[in-house]
Amino acid sequence: MKAPATRPAIDQLARPLNSLRVSVIDRCDLRCSYCMPEEHYTWLPQEDVLSFAEIGTLVDAFVLAGVRKVRLTGGEPLLRRGLPELVARLREQSVIEDLALTTNATHLAQLAGPLRQAGLDRVTVSLDSLQPERFKRLVRRDALPQVLEGIRAAGAAGFTSLKINTVVMQGFNDDELEALLEFGHQVGGEVRFIEYMDVGGATLWSMDKVCAKAQILARLEECYGPIVPCGPQGAAPAERFRLQDGTCFGIIASVTEPFCRACDRSRLTADGQWYLCLYAQEGMDLRRLVRAGHPAEELAAFIRQGWEARTDRGAEERAAAPHRGALYQVEDLRQNPHREMHTRGG
Ligand code: SAM
Ligand code: SF4
Ligand code: SF4
Repeated sequence: MKAPATRPAIDQLARPLNSLRVSVIDRCDLRCSYCMPEEHYTWLPQEDVLSFAEIGTLVDAFVLAGVRKVRLTGGEPLLRRGLPELVARLREQSVIEDLALTTNATHLAQLAGPLRQAGLDRVTVSLDSLQPERFKRLVRRDALPQVLEGIRAAGAAGFTSLKINTVVMQGFNDDELEALLEFGHQVGGEVRFIEYMDVGGATLWSMDKVCAKAQILARLEECYGPIVPCGPQGAAPAERFRLQDGTCFGIIASVTEPFCRACDRSRLTADGQWYLCLYAQEGMDLRRLVRAGHPAEELAAFIRQGWEARTDRGAEERAAAPHRGALYQVEDLRQNPHREMHTRGG
């Protein structure tokens, strides 16, 4: 498809529609305590999960409405069989400037090469601890060796701008910041420290477990000396900083310094529900429209209209709430799995 000449859709707070996160599966092989702490989950019905052709048509429509950055996520996206085929289909959309993947990397050793060949631009790996026992306690699987192998395989396959996402939790892994920066340096990846968020699914969340941006910076300054900001962050969620030795890292301070005013992202679930905000209560059903056979141009008109009405600023509203606890209780999530982070796509 040729580059559309029209301007991107702009929402009520003057934010353009630029970036789309596509969840390709709601299942995951890990059980991170900040995301999937329960024993049992309600999964999306298999027949509702979009085919690659349906995802392709919807992404074409989003591109017509302004999207230029697409990130594949989940659940664990590498569990979706044939993922490189989807990447190759999306790559045909030549106006996508950035086609990226967020993964826990347990299957990256096998898939890094095929994904690179299919045209994936960038990989972000989630890694919260380098200590095998701690890692196992966090994700309830003994998977650190596979993850480390996956990260090495990404480098060998030619992915150059690797990012490593670490959710920092008070009293759990906040003593590993330096080790993770050192590891990032070794593997040629940039670490982004993420504040533990009270998103749907984080039923164990409480404010005292959040390691705030200010605490992360104070700890690193104590160890490395003065830290300088790397300039304006634009619409990117991470604010970047530089150590004296030139090492760069990011902090995603969604809890203590939310950045909704610049948010150009929305999310498509594996069963075709479109969410305008990570915290949105309801989404819009694009599966029904794509399965009714509407062409990309008509879907784009619907998407444009939806985005133009957008006023969401979920994280800022949460920050202003007087008594902050977990966003949803387990019963809410069982009844409406679309509220889960692993369904909505992080
Ligand atoms: N399974 C893949 C992974 O972990 O990279 C992709 C999906 S996961 C939902 C995407 C991102 O969301 C991960 O980087 C994860 O750390 C982040 N995430 C999940 N729950 C979170 C929470 N409560 N607070 C902050 N980040 C969270
Ligand atoms: Fe962990 Fe990602 Fe799985 Fe959530 S979806 S449990 S963050 S690996
Ligand atoms: Fe964007 Fe919603 Fe996240 Fe704010 S909370 S940055 S509006 S997705």
